[in-house]
Amino acid sequence: MKLIFERGKKGQGCTLLPPCDVPEVELPVPMRGKKPKLPHVSENELSRHYTELAKQVHGVNDGFYPLGSCTMKYNPKVNERAAALSGFTGIHPLQPEHTVQGCLEVLREASQMLCEITGMDRMTMQPAAGAHGEFTGLLLIKAYHDSRNDTARTKIIVPDSAHGTNPASAAMLGYDVVSIPSGPDGCVDIGKLKEAVGSDTAGLMLTNPNTVGLFDKNILEITSIVHEAGGLTYYDGANLNAVMGLVRPGDMGFDVVHLNLHKTFSTPHGGGGPGSGPVGCKAFLAEFLPGLLPVPADGGLCMEAPEHSVGSVKAFYGNFLVVVRAMTYILMLGREGIPAAAKNAVLNANYMMQKLKDIYPMAYDGTCMHEFVMSLEKMKHEIGVSAMDVAKSLLDYGIHPPTMYFPLIVHEALMVEPTETESRETLDEVIAVFREIYETAGKDPRILHEAPVKTYIRRPDEVRAARKAVLRWSED
Ligand SMILES: *Cc1c(COP(=O)(O)O)cnc(C)c1O
Repeated sequence: MKLIFERGKKGQGCTLLPPCDVPEVELPVPMRGKKPKLPHVSENELSRHYTELAKQVHGVNDGFYPLGSCTMKYNPKVNERAAALSGFTGIHPLQPEHTVQGCLEVLREASQMLCEITGMDRMTMQPAAGAHGEFTGLLLIKAYHDSRNDTARTKIIVPDSAHGTNPASAAMLGYDVVSIPSGPDGCVDIGKLKEAVGSDTAGLMLTNPNTVGLFDKNILEITSIVHEAGGLTYYDGANLNAVMGLVRPGDMGFDVVHLNLHKTFSTPHGGGGPGSGPVGCKAFLAEFLPGLLPVPADGGLCMEAPEHSVGSVKAFYGNFLVVVRAMTYILMLGREGIPAAAKNAVLNANYMMQKLKDIYPMAYDGTCMHEFVMSLEKMKHEIGVSAMDVAKSLLDYGIHPPTMYFPLIVHEALMVEPTETESRETLDEVIAVFREIYETAGKDPRILHEAPVKTYIRRPDEVRAARKAVLRWSED
């Protein structure tokens, strides 16, 4: 495909500006930038350019997207309608509060609903994504220990199955990360946790169900071990889709939670945002929350900073329109719909797992939650077909690959999360594709080594693409 700069030619294109009818003035030198080089294309060509680009991506609107831990569920169009209402779009964050009472009401109601779903007492909508929420949540934990002059707590415990952002967030705050191994059942090894905690423990970060798709049955014991050592507990809520409306992190013994509205609560993601990673906490941490929070005043609402706020982690109120979308989703599903969605997510994952486990070995036995992990280690050894080959092959069937080579503790891992928004028919079609790929692998592995053949780009050099990414066009 041609770049937009390679299309058209000088002099072509649409001129929208009328002839100048005022005297021309030279800009002072310091204000003069380099003259930007703009493409010379007609509106028709521009429109074709974007359509061509749009055809080259795969989104939830194109087909099955089982990217484990990412919850690529359908984004209902009604969310977009709500977020496009002019009362939400035609406002400015510095507008007087009495003129935006409806928006403040959205912030308050959405946070109340999410507090109810998570079992937390207060929530900030400022963080822009999950990892940003983790950082914010850890700031609260740090502020809490600091407020008690308990400054010897320098360690954050993270299980080895954790999402990579967990240790990264802890390290960004200057904490030492203590990684504890999972047991053979994929859950936290209680003995190892007991050895790891102590007077230097600031907290534990955990996601439950964890990143191998299993609910840790020892969760109450885990959180109380950390509390007894004087540490706090952080719940990575990115996997809440499996349990929303059914189990609450607050009841599992967690003190701080982040949510990924762009996963669990059906707002668009992939391709770079905007996202939203609200952080909820128990009452004793609320005084440290960042930004401004809506509070009742004079029969309406005003925004107020918590007493010992850690400051701001993002401008103003976060990605407000993402909150509008998430709130629309919650209101549409309601008290019965939210847990029903979670149950269907779990049912869909178990259905697929049962229909595939005779040929694709599962990394862990038993019932899974919203996602399951298969290990293609045996296939790789026996016929030289790797998880990568299977994933690339799926592209030829119009299916987005599952999450690959993650979690790191499973070799040749493919982590599949079908989500609740796929029908039984779609699941059956995808199961048939997985089985067909398995058969092809047995008959002629070369076909899989060469896949994909139908995509625009086939197999890029992934290391070079990551290390030496070329993300901008430049003239020279
Ligand atoms: C997606 C995810 C995150 C990070 O969320 P972002 O919005 O991508 O920053 C953290 N933890 C888990 C378990 C996740 O799946």
